[in-house]
Amino acid sequence: MAEVPQHTHCITCGRAIPLGEKFCSDECERAHKETIRKKKNQLLILYVAAIGIMLLALLSGMFGG
Ligand SMILES: [Zn+2]
Repeated sequence: MAEVPQHTHCITCGRAIPLGEKFCSDECERAHKETIRKKKNQLLILYVAAIGIMLLALLSGMFGG
């Protein structure tokens, strides 16, 4: 019976890599970090937009009418 060497997969491209590694190459690591950065930016924009809308609603409630 052939033993399958212990391995994991690259987070970015799914290629088989040695256990303990996360990426098969620097390029994949960079691509992954870029994806996380973009997601964080999107969350931040959503957060700021939500606060802006709440503030607008609050202000129009105080001064409007
Ligand atoms: Zn990869």
